[in-house]
Amino acid sequence: MHSTMQDVPLLISRILTHGSTIHGRSTVTTWTGEAEPHRRTFAEIGARAAQLAHALRELGAEERRPIGTLMWNNAEHVEAYLAIPAMGSVLHTLNLRLPPEQLAWIVNHADDRVILVNGSLLPLLAPLLPHLPRVEHVIVAGPGDRSVLDEAAPAVHDYEELIAGRPTRYDWPELDERAPAAMCYTSGTTGDPKGVVYSHRSIYLHSMQVNMTESMGLTDSDTSLVVVPQFHVNAWGLPHATFMTGVNLLMPDRFLQPAPLAEMIATERPTHAAAVPTIWQGLLAEVLANPRDLTSLDRVTIGGSACPPSLMEAYDKLGVRLCHAWGMTETSPLGTMANPPAGLTAEEEWPYRLTQGRFPAGVEARLTGPGGDLMPWDGESAGELEVRGPWIAAAYYGGADAEPLRPEDKFSADGWLKTGDVGTISPDGFLTLTDRAKDVIKSGGEWISSVDLENALMAHPDVAEAAVVAVPDEKWGERPLATVVLKEGATADYAELRAFLAESVAKWQLPERWTIVPAVPKTSVGKFDKKVIRRQYADGALD
Ligand code: ADP
Repeated sequence: MHSTMQDVPLLISRILTHGSTIHGRSTVTTWTGEAEPHRRTFAEIGARAAQLAHALRELGAEERRPIGTLMWNNAEHVEAYLAIPAMGSVLHTLNLRLPPEQLAWIVNHADDRVILVNGSLLPLLAPLLPHLPRVEHVIVAGPGDRSVLDEAAPAVHDYEELIAGRPTRYDWPELDERAPAAMCYTSGTTGDPKGVVYSHRSIYLHSMQVNMTESMGLTDSDTSLVVVPQFHVNAWGLPHATFMTGVNLLMPDRFLQPAPLAEMIATERPTHAAAVPTIWQGLLAEVLANPRDLTSLDRVTIGGSACPPSLMEAYDKLGVRLCHAWGMTETSPLGTMANPPAGLTAEEEWPYRLTQGRFPAGVEARLTGPGGDLMPWDGESAGELEVRGPWIAAAYYGGADAEPLRPEDKFSADGWLKTGDVGTISPDGFLTLTDRAKDVIKSGGEWISSVDLENALMAHPDVAEAAVVAVPDEKWGERPLATVVLKEGATADYAELRAFLAESVAKWQLPERWTIVPAVPKTSVGKFDKKVIRRQYADGALD
């Protein structure tokens, strides 16, 4: 027997057409830093995406070839998110916080020939261009000093001039749903960055999951403040997912500091927001110092690194519920979300909220123990998390003419993604991560979770941030080093912090080495940069 169903490909062009017609009145609001933000309807975005596709085709854009975007979160970037994959090219978001050499390496490795850039980022792009010999066109969107592009630069176009007057409809090609649609490089904490190439099918299915009630639960009555950058794993899928369901988008552009974010929330009243914990830490300090009303936020998605319980509690007090999510560049990124099972009291919900969350049907999970055995889902047996599913990477991009890469430490022989994250899974499928395998502190044959120590420290009222890393120790192999940022005016010293920690963790886990620093170094996507802390310690800068 065969199925009798139609075989219609799952394509980004379908998301574009659907969002810009059925949800044509929904809006993308971009913060401008001026009295009025900029607003554009989904219908306008759809028309302009068609104009952009016509322009890109004229510039020589080809199917299955990447087009780079070096942009903040804004309406033009949403247009690129829709137009580039819909016309068959590959959206390649560039992480503007990477060191310039790494950014150049990535552009060359992907072989981007066209780059869309925000005018405000030209000072970043201009010095890179001499190192990007194959870039032929630079398209500049929004205000910025164009004079920094010297004569050696490739052809420079103004985004608005380029799309003006072109047809507002495009005959989107009927692509293979497995064709490449977007690509994103991991931030390369070890070795060269690795490219993950998403397909139309993976993005379509992932978008549906993002919207589901068991995930972010978004509808056209919502406005989502997308703080997570569009270059950080496709802004966690939100630009595509929201076009499916008509969710209004609120885009912060380059105004990512706590004060303008607080202002945005108080005036535009979004119902949902997504960002990494460091953003929420900064915003918390801001609103405690200068109170603003954040209560329009009905649900907040927080992930990218572990959310300290103290942060969740602090936001609960402000009437804002943080929902923990786990994912990676390789998982599109939605892997789990911590919506507790139905029918529980607030108190019963709490332990579920502290986990990384529950796996949806599209993500299969297993835990591999140190000896290679599969560990039971009993909430206690720990192992490395491995996942499989239609929006999980099977390989990394190897280069235009090279085979995909399947390094053994990242993919199992039977095709599962090895996440490098260590944790437990409860019988009802809630994941609790204890650490990244490379961040666990191996002390005298026992493992200490750096995340547990950080969470316990961040519960101290004087502590703004705490990062714990393993440092070499003659006797124990490794011991924890606690790096602490104190709140303004706080006076706690090491002895007090150590005594506080002793109340919640075993004595043998207590760090002997402490350092108080003005700020914890962060990666390009706002996570604690433990590699830098370890290096600073080795160089003697942190004693
Ligand atoms: P990078 O590896 O450069 O940080 P990713 O954004 O892909 O880039 O990071 C994925 C990793 O981030 C995961 O493997 C995990 O270690 C960490 N992570 C993501 N979400 C969470 C979370 N909710 N709790 C703890 N760790 C998380």
